[in-house]
Amino acid sequence: MANTTGTLWVVATPIGNLEDLSPRAQRILGEVAQVVCEDTRHSGRLLAAFGIKQRLASLHEHNESRVAPGLVARLLAGEDLALVSDAGTPLLSDPGYRLVRAAAEAGAAISPVPGPSALLAALSVAGLPTDRFAFEGFLPARAGGRRARLGALGQEPRTLVFFEAGNRVTDFLADAAEGLGAEREAVLARELTKLHETVYRGTLAELLERTRTDPDACRGEMVVLVAGRAEAQAGGGDRALLQQLLPALLEELPPSRAVKLATRLSGVPRREVYELALRLGGSGVQ
Ligand code: SAM
Repeated sequence: MANTTGTLWVVATPIGNLEDLSPRAQRILGEVAQVVCEDTRHSGRLLAAFGIKQRLASLHEHNESRVAPGLVARLLAGEDLALVSDAGTPLLSDPGYRLVRAAAEAGAAISPVPGPSALLAALSVAGLPTDRFAFEGFLPARAGGRRARLGALGQEPRTLVFFEAGNRVTDFLADAAEGLGAEREAVLARELTKLHETVYRGTLAELLERTRTDPDACRGEMVVLVAGRAEAQAGGGDRALLQQLLPALLEELPPSRAVKLATRLSGVPRREVYELALRLGGSGVQ
């Protein structure tokens, strides 16, 4: 049966350089019935720069659940809509997830218009392994929550990618050096595609020193990438299995027994299993 719904176009927009708005994105933004955006003034300026006249509707974290059903009803009635965020690809640490999910559940057509994304732009120039990576978005702003998340990532072998704000990057790097290891290779990619684009490379300790001594390194928008824990560094044993096993064992057994069993089953050195158990909150581990 032919699809008779309208299409929700999910359109990526520039993360700095306006030349990155693709010709296809420009055409679709001009053709749809309405553009759904985070900030109507911000997106209005973007569209005006391309001579695109459009009706704009606002969708943000605080109204998304409320406005999504009405937008889905319009899609089902045959209207085409475009979803954009302030910059980059919608849904990636940006609004849109609830709308896309509701549209999918209702059977509406959804189609991407790919383009800029700070995540992929940073990965593409970092020079860290890209065959596998873990996108962690923004970590909690509070030190306790941030440290807990970094602690849980200590054994992660994939390249880690974080979004961070300039005024918090020094605290972030200090906690990352502590939780992941000061000698871990890392990259700070700031102001990508903009006038002051800079990519700093070094160990976490070196990047921390940089942001402590160079105010420019803390300015603007940035992505922090950290090399995963190297296999050689990780020693013997099956860490993926350990990551699955230990939380479940800690729920069912006293911590010392959970550590003993996880050590035997995963083959990972006991000290490492013990440290992971502590990070997972297993008090009473001996
Ligand atoms: N969805 C967007 C995307 O795909 O790029 C990301 C939105 S998120 C709210 C904003 C964060 O992305 C910033 O705090 C920063 O970490 C990163 N970011 C956005 N633009 C950037 C740029 N030009 N250079 C470096 N990082 C950037």
